[in-house]
Amino acid sequence: MPVTYRQVCNWIRAFAATIAENKGYLTELDAAIGDADHGINMNRGMQAVLGKLDEGEHGDIGALLKTVGMTLVSTVGGAAGPLYGTLFLRMGAASAGKADLSAQDWAAALTAGVAGVQNRGKAELGDKTMIDALVPAAETVESAVAGGAALDETLGKSAEAARQGMEATIPLVARKGRASYLGERSAGHQDPGATSSWLLIRTAADTFANEDERTSNG
Ligand code: ADP
Ligand code: MG
Repeated sequence: MPVTYRQVCNWIRAFAATIAENKGYLTELDAAIGDADHGINMNRGMQAVLGKLDEGEHGDIGALLKTVGMTLVSTVGGAAGPLYGTLFLRMGAASAGKADLSAQDWAAALTAGVAGVQNRGKAELGDKTMIDALVPAAETVESAVAGGAALDETLGKSAEAARQGMEATIPLVARKGRASYLGERSAGHQDPGATSSWLLIRTAADTFANEDERTSNG
């Protein structure tokens, strides 16, 4: 079963709600190794996105994701704004004109988005960034889909891969972003951006696997 336009809208809404719920937690994580604003930044951006979603729902997933990306670029400060903005802009470009997404479409969109984040931020796996959650999630979807798996089978696996990647950031020394200024002292703390990225992949898994979300305005 393909992912519908409505499910993509509901994913964005669910991510905004999850970010709002976890605003304090994300900011606390950023207080340990950054400047205590990641939850605030992401929540500002996603609340602005919600306002745009309400402006009209035209059925083009690519256009929807581009709007999300442009809104994040223009409303989220810091490192995360341009990086999450790029993620959504690239996902949007990869799904331009599509009213629904097959498993292959979702794999291609996520992979393009994650490649965009890597291009923009130059972080590699193990640098203790959002990449540590996003790359395993995208690779899990790619290999499952290449092996012929249906989308609903792969979604839970990709969320689990993102969670493991997020947890694996704890012992790492940051090599990119503000946390890298701390050097060795960044070890022992979970990366805030990897945490918000896990939330993003987890909400996609929850929303796309839910039949009731296919047509309803959740
Ligand atoms: P800032 O660091 O500017 O205050 P945020 O606190 O909103 O921005 O976001 C911090 C998160 O951004 C980090 O936890 C990390 O995951 C991510 N990040 C920072 N620099 C990079 C980069 N070059 N590539 C990928 N992710 C990065
Ligand atoms: Mg910060």
